[in-house]
Amino acid sequence: MAKPLIAIVGRPNVGKSLLFNRLARQRIAVVEDLAGTTRDRLYADCDIWGRACTIIDTGGFDSLEKEGYTPAILAQTRFAIEEADIIVFLTDGREEPTTLDFEIADVLRQTRKPVILAANKVDNPKMPISNLYALRLGEPVLMSAATGFGVAELTEHIEELLPRDEQEFPADDSVKVALVGRPNVGKSSLTNHILGYERSIVSPVPGTTRDAVDTKLEWKDQPVTLIDTAGMRRKARVRSEKTSLEYHMVLRSLRAIDRSDVVIIVCESGGIADQDTKIAGYAHEAGKATLIAVNKWDIIEAETGKKRTAAQKDYEAMIQRYLPFISYAPVHFVSAQTGMGVETMLDDAISIVENLRERIPTAVLNDTIRRSIAEHPPPSVKGKQIKIRYATQTEIAPPTIIVFTNRPELVHFSYVRHLENVIRARFPFRGVPLRIELRKGSGERTKEERLRAKREAALAGNDVVDDGDDGDEE
Ligand code: GDP
Ligand code: GDP
Repeated sequence: MAKPLIAIVGRPNVGKSLLFNRLARQRIAVVEDLAGTTRDRLYADCDIWGRACTIIDTGGFDSLEKEGYTPAILAQTRFAIEEADIIVFLTDGREEPTTLDFEIADVLRQTRKPVILAANKVDNPKMPISNLYALRLGEPVLMSAATGFGVAELTEHIEELLPRDEQEFPADDSVKVALVGRPNVGKSSLTNHILGYERSIVSPVPGTTRDAVDTKLEWKDQPVTLIDTAGMRRKARVRSEKTSLEYHMVLRSLRAIDRSDVVIIVCESGGIADQDTKIAGYAHEAGKATLIAVNKWDIIEAETGKKRTAAQKDYEAMIQRYLPFISYAPVHFVSAQTGMGVETMLDDAISIVENLRERIPTAVLNDTIRRSIAEHPPPSVKGKQIKIRYATQTEIAPPTIIVFTNRPELVHFSYVRHLENVIRARFPFRGVPLRIELRKGSGERTKEERLRAKREAALAGNDVVDDGDDGDEE
């Protein structure tokens, strides 16, 4: 089920970032910090009256935008129209609309998608409001990202406009595979190879415009839907379009990743770029099964000949360096041109999906962790002993494990990593992210809680086997 996408657009300095931060649900982001992706966070999960949505800020995308480079801002607005479900057009309620405001409004009036005009910086509801009706986008929502005034009203409007039909395409039992990556890494070529025919013309000229199409196929009796984001590449001749390409790529990738079960991150044999790190970060955060495909390996084979194993080792080291947070993702060296490795890659992508739904029985999990602690106890910090008391898996897809300890704040990140490795070594979580959360407490239920659970279960007519082993009832 795809999460609705909400884009905030508007000229610089109207308060887009501040509004974004207000709407974004804060979360603990240890891994992101490591990957250096929080610095330029462009999107976030948010909760609109109980509906999970993704919100996207156009501010801070590229320096030109920051400087108020008009064509770049208009291009971003067009991309937002193309990709988002709802567009929030933010203006300044204290100033008369500027030329750029009018230009943005002109672009927005051409879409049938819902557009909400919001007048920001109305810190005091009694102050006079500028003439925003002139933008011909209806009545503005008066608000202040600084004080919070009107933000609830804005989110109510958003909620009313959210797509009711949550299913973007009819539910089916196919495995959804998203191929994401920078432009030109070979996503379409891989799709075409998989299909065994030329779905679209792959020309060696960069910048061929195509649209992303979902393709359904049978792969060894398994229904598969391929989600290809190749259409994200556009004719980038105009400077402004080029500068906004990243914005567009982000929107497209998020969409595709969100709808998928497994993400194939396509990289190029030439090396790993910043954008690869970002895309991998999205896949990791979205909690999907993930595989890395290093495409165009035929070029390296031709260059290195017999030394190809060494070349693969080098590349793997590079992945470790630039994408350390998805070290769980299997790496496949492939060539869409010769077909090398493509079949095995897709087999593997499909096979890791079931790992997302793996459930570890609590007793087995605790046994594994207890043993590992005996061998390698958490180091005490400032003379304080850390005790890991209990662990339990509370969720699947992605698997989430809560670890109860006396001092969650003292447990070092590297020890969590260690626990993750211990769990991975024992259970089939290959290719999927594992969320480990520390919580204070023993994890055991009080006598009263147990009795209550028993009573409730009895009322519901369930048999209850209370082994006292399922401590997490939050
Ligand atoms: P962006 O360029 O559109 O992302 O704008 P920012 O979020 O960076 O905000 C630009 C400036 O406006 C900053 O100095 C904010 O503190 C200020 N600002 C944003 N929202 C409000 C508001 O509701 N009231 C007031 N008084 N200032 C605001
Ligand atoms: P996309 O933008 O990610 O969909 O990339 P395309 O599939 O359009 O490929 C971009 C360019 O890379 C095209 O010129 C392809 O012919 C070329 N290409 C794709 N896969 C391979 C490969 O495995 N080996 C080589 N040598 N070239 C490839």
